[in-house]
Amino acid sequence: MSSEVIHKVSEQRSRNMSAIKSKNTKPEIAVRKLLHSMGYRFRLHRKDLPGSPDIVLPKYKTVIFVHGCFWHRHENCKYATTPKTRPAFWESKFNENIRRDRTNQNNLIKLGWKVLVIWECDLKSTNISNIRELFDMSFK
Ligand SMILES: [Zn+2]
Repeated sequence: MSSEVIHKVSEQRSRNMSAIKSKNTKPEIAVRKLLHSMGYRFRLHRKDLPGSPDIVLPKYKTVIFVHGCFWHRHENCKYATTPKTRPAFWESKFNENIRRDRTNQNNLIKLGWKVLVIWECDLKSTNISNIRELFDMSFK
């Protein structure tokens, strides 16, 4: 592979990453606030872990991903819409995202981490109590 090709590939990858991995999104901040109010200590965006998890709770050996339903393809979710134009483009992009998420999660589990995924739509106020319960059950 020529260095030009490598350059192009990594450029493409970083563009994809920036599209799906925007930091400090509203849902992410909501989860942090909830954890904080429950008294849990956490760290953010640990780059040394697969997928650079949004929230890391070292004490509970747990990572949390806060996923946007659209980019991460929340199954059966009304927010996981598919744009009408360029369907093939979107499908390959979505498949790539799903594959990347799965790989990261598997690698984290292999390293002994517990992985929690919070979906954007779970954060609608009616469901916050469910998330609180999930945290209580996970961090015992
Ligand atoms: Zn959803």
